[in-house]
Amino acid sequence: MSIFWNLGWFFKQHWLRYSCCVLFLILVSLAELLPPWIIGDLVDEVQQGSITFASVLQSSLLIAFIGLAIYALRNGWRIMLFGGAIELGRVMRLRLFHHLTRMSPEFYQRHNTGDLMAHGTNDVRAIEMTAAEGVLTLVDSMIAGSAVIIAMILVCGWEMTVAALLPFPVMAWLMFRYAGLLHSRFKLAQEAFSDLNNRVQEAVSGVRAIRAHDLNRSQMQKFAAQSETTVAANMQVARIDAMFDPTISICVGVSVLGSLSFGAWRIDSGLMTLGELTTFTIYLGLLVWPMFAFGWLFNIVERGNASLNRLQSLMGEKSGVVDSELETVKSLDGDIRFDIKCFTYPGADKAVLGQLALTLTKGQFVGICGRTGSGKSTLLRLLLRQYDDAAVSIQLNGVDHQQFSLDQLRSRFALVAQEPFLFSATIAENIAFGKPLASRAEIEQVARLACVHDDIVQFKDGYETMLGEKGVNLSGGQKQRLTIARALLLDADVLLFDDAFCSLDMQTEARILDNLITSGQQKTIVLITQRLTNLNKADQIVVLDQGRISESGAHRELIAGNGWYARIFKRQSLAIKTSG
Ligand code: ATP
Ligand code: MG
Repeated sequence: MSIFWNLGWFFKQHWLRYSCCVLFLILVSLAELLPPWIIGDLVDEVQQGSITFASVLQSSLLIAFIGLAIYALRNGWRIMLFGGAIELGRVMRLRLFHHLTRMSPEFYQRHNTGDLMAHGTNDVRAIEMTAAEGVLTLVDSMIAGSAVIIAMILVCGWEMTVAALLPFPVMAWLMFRYAGLLHSRFKLAQEAFSDLNNRVQEAVSGVRAIRAHDLNRSQMQKFAAQSETTVAANMQVARIDAMFDPTISICVGVSVLGSLSFGAWRIDSGLMTLGELTTFTIYLGLLVWPMFAFGWLFNIVERGNASLNRLQSLMGEKSGVVDSELETVKSLDGDIRFDIKCFTYPGADKAVLGQLALTLTKGQFVGICGRTGSGKSTLLRLLLRQYDDAAVSIQLNGVDHQQFSLDQLRSRFALVAQEPFLFSATIAENIAFGKPLASRAEIEQVARLACVHDDIVQFKDGYETMLGEKGVNLSGGQKQRLTIARALLLDADVLLFDDAFCSLDMQTEARILDNLITSGQQKTIVLITQRLTNLNKADQIVVLDQGRISESGAHRELIAGNGWYARIFKRQSLAIKTSG
């Protein structure tokens, strides 16, 4: 029952709703006790021959009125209870989503998308169910059950009641055992569902690669195997589920048999009237639901517990990057100094960056190049605090960047990542993603700077063109330029381009760079690129080699230095000349 304790914060927040709900449930339980008592009296009147039309009419009207009252009360508690559960689901999903937005990339390395989605759907649903049906079965099994038992004792004495309740301890013990089994099996079933979700998510998002490599059949086989595992895990749950109802039915049957036999003997012995036994039998009928509720309570609570444990362990994971609580107002606008002793990714055994000192001067255009895997993107990840490390010190305007809150820090940078990411929304919405209130004129201005305006107006719906998931209906170059436009719209001091021009031809790349340099916004531009031919305009060029700076300086100095830069630059220039 620890789940009710764990969800206590929610019940406390909505105490009025839940108090009314419990009150209504109690009133319904009490109101239900009245008709059997009225009927019992009528039976006794029939037996004694004292029944009149007036008393039948009066009793019938009273029963009808009680029925209407029960109808209204039931309606009320259902709306309140199930409404509360839906609200709990909303709050839990919101918390989960907030948690996910604060997690570092390392967390996403450990958890797949499908698994995270399963937590937000299946597990939250199981918890919602506990907050609705769990509360209902708890109140009904305890309060309605106790009310019926007390009424039984009052009407027919404790002997009859004990006879009726004899199978109850056996049933409680069995329920307890089933619940233990259900907990572990339900947890396995939820995990299997997470894995299945992962497979579907990967297959659907990678459908182009799957088709291109003709992997349909092997993917089908993997999916079928995972489906079977999920089915098997759910069958294990169903097997336990299937034991609850029959066990309760048998116990109820034994109870009815015992009390009827004992009641018949008591009437025969003159210890009880026929009317009392009628009332008792109807009460016994009323006890069936609390008994089922009791069994169902164990079932629901264990499902909710297993899911809440899964969710809590996910939400309990701390980000490797601790956000600074201080909303310092110190300016971030200034030089950026990297002072790195070394950096190793969490869980990796080899350092990717070695001793490295680098200053990005405010307002300058800095080019970073070097072999693939040399640590260029890693530098940006550290700058944006996707990872923290004691051996890494980055200062913004002389202040350690860990002193700023993450929101404050990240809002100063506009990153165009190596892989463009677009949302399934219109082109205008995609560009204005970081500034949703931007006017159409602002959107068009950045689209022109990113050289994508002419492409956009060629589409039938122009800026209102709906993009498919991840922008499937665009070319690679169009996607890149849209993400560049999106970054330009942000109110950032530093533009970070991580190989963001690789799908564009050289002329377009040069035009965009010229637009940025001449737009007069005095922003610092950091351009990571494999194409050196556009770096001759850079104020400073840094060449990385195996996590260290191997060359740095202006274009002319590096050419004169005759190192990796000069070699690759000459080779690329030659390739352009021969192809042109
Ligand atoms: P490219 O030009 O191909 O984009 P890069 O210079 O940007 O290369 P990085 O992405 O910085 O290279 O990666 C540097 C090294 O760090 C690579 O060897 C890579 O395998 C490793 N690496 C990158 N991300 C992780 C990670 N999350 N965990 C462990 N190692 C990583
Ligand atoms: Mg990279």
